[in-house]
Amino acid sequence: MQRAILILFLVLLGSGPLILSEFHITLLNYIGLSALVALGVVLLTGVGGLTSFGQAAFVGLGAYASAYLTTATDLPGWLTWAGGSPWIGLAAGLLLTAIVAWLLGALTLRLSGHYLPLGTIAWGISLYFLFGNLSFLGGHTGISGIPALALFGLELKSGRAFYYVIWVMLLAAVWITQNLLDSREGRAIRALKGGTVMAEAMGVDTARSKIIIFLIAALFAALSGWLYAHLQRFVNPTPFGLHIGIEYLFMAVVGGAGNVWGALLGAGLITILKQWLQDLLPKIFGASGNFEMIVFGMMMVLVLQRARDGIWPILARLVPPARGSRLVPQGDALPRNVMPQAGAGILDVRHVFKRFGGLVANNDMSFTVRAGEVMALIGPNGAGKSTMFDCISGVGSVSEGEIRFLGERIDHLTARAIARRGMSRTFQHVRLLPGMSVLENVAIGAHLRGTRGVLPAALHLERAEEQRLLAEAARQIERVGLKDSMFEQAGSLALGQQRTLEIARALAADPCLLLLDEPAAGLRYMEKQILADLLRKLKAEGMGILLVEHDMDFVMGLANRVVVMEFGEKIAEGLPDEVQRNPAVLEAYLGGVE
Ligand code: ADP
Ligand code: MG
Repeated sequence: MQRAILILFLVLLGSGPLILSEFHITLLNYIGLSALVALGVVLLTGVGGLTSFGQAAFVGLGAYASAYLTTATDLPGWLTWAGGSPWIGLAAGLLLTAIVAWLLGALTLRLSGHYLPLGTIAWGISLYFLFGNLSFLGGHTGISGIPALALFGLELKSGRAFYYVIWVMLLAAVWITQNLLDSREGRAIRALKGGTVMAEAMGVDTARSKIIIFLIAALFAALSGWLYAHLQRFVNPTPFGLHIGIEYLFMAVVGGAGNVWGALLGAGLITILKQWLQDLLPKIFGASGNFEMIVFGMMMVLVLQRARDGIWPILARLVPPARGSRLVPQGDALPRNVMPQAGAGILDVRHVFKRFGGLVANNDMSFTVRAGEVMALIGPNGAGKSTMFDCISGVGSVSEGEIRFLGERIDHLTARAIARRGMSRTFQHVRLLPGMSVLENVAIGAHLRGTRGVLPAALHLERAEEQRLLAEAARQIERVGLKDSMFEQAGSLALGQQRTLEIARALAADPCLLLLDEPAAGLRYMEKQILADLLRKLKAEGMGILLVEHDMDFVMGLANRVVVMEFGEKIAEGLPDEVQRNPAVLEAYLGGVE
């Protein structure tokens, strides 16, 4: 069904120039140009959660670079070879945009919360004024006499001829974006919105993913600008101002920023609506002015209130969902790490302190974990166990003390660097991507076991590796007993199963040390038995396991050694039997009642 609709859409699109009037061709051309920019916004804002108001400035960069190079008569000697050709103009525009976006991204992407959107407004305005004030760019008058594109010796002078160039490029961009999102790099990108802590703990370089989507969005915008310049054959700063940048964001939000097709829908709706309102409103008000902006503003409020995800999901619901592939991915096993020798010390925590202001959450904690053993960390709520996990895994910083993993000091390393060294963890408060399938969530755990980057992913040239990663994820899902839920959305699982998913995700990293924070909470009796069996098997394989758990039967049946914490301090350590009889432990646990 979905495929049929797509084919119908493409056929209609393809036959457009044969049947439509000049007016409608022009309209569709502008929709295509806007959709290209909005597609970047979908990737950046809708998927990646990074709000940008400044995309119009990148459109301007692409437009002006080519406009200047193809019209300038006073190019310096070393640059004359680059003059005159729109295609060299395109290359120059993309290169310039990449450099500018990279610099701006390096400066602004580290900003959090509201500061990033404010940053994008700032550079959006700066670039706009730069276009208007540089005399070699024609100031506010702009540049005219830009040559038409020529393809295979054919000059594309009319909008009708240009139509295919725009739409082929747009559809190629849609294809690339969709490919990218459906890949190892894409999972890292989709984790940016609400999952950075988890992703970093799985070894994902989230700063890199941010720069990547920022660059792609900027390049799509620049491409749109280049097309615009050679379609219009005239540029001035007006279409690259901040209010147009807001309009692009608006298109993505109204159309549906979570889906690539939302960009096309939003661009279509807004462009048509704008055209219509620009005709209608001045007649109603009896005066000229940009009244459509007022309507857009009200529409935005309405969409944000009534349909946060935009209009695309509402339309998509009308069509039965494609069942997609429900085949369990098969593939060769990935190479595995060599496990340390059983009994060898792998984790060494020495006199670690963690302070939150005046609160000492970890107070002089010391213990070790050996390969092939389960070390249980127990203690009442608030004792500091999860904080200890954060210190060890690099999710939080250590205030004082030393942590060694496989002989190397790691207390100053990032979570990502520690993950790379063979440690993996779960979270007490589950951290997963609820809208993604169980399979994809677990595949994030295998991130470090793949190497193919953005370009192969965008062209889907990394399918062999992707298949192996997914197959590995599927094996771990089967191992923890979640096989039946493999293709369900992670957010639809019961809480206990979500915890189990996290174990599969941690295992997909092929760790030699596994940190499990309350893995059995919310599990039923049988599920606990399955989990206990699994942990016993992992232990026998030589994995070291550090386990926080409240279910004492579960802990005592599994643990080789136990460390007991209270108020951030270690109050006892020993074999399960010893610890259970220790008066200090009984006091802490049962409040003195026996
Ligand atoms: P446990 O996992 O043993 O139940 P936690 O490690 O979660 O305990 O918490 C230990 C103490 O540290 C608690 O008093 C908690 O309120 C405090 N704490 C944990 N995280 C933070 C934080 N980010 N900021 C301030 N206090 C915190
Ligand atoms: Mg805890």
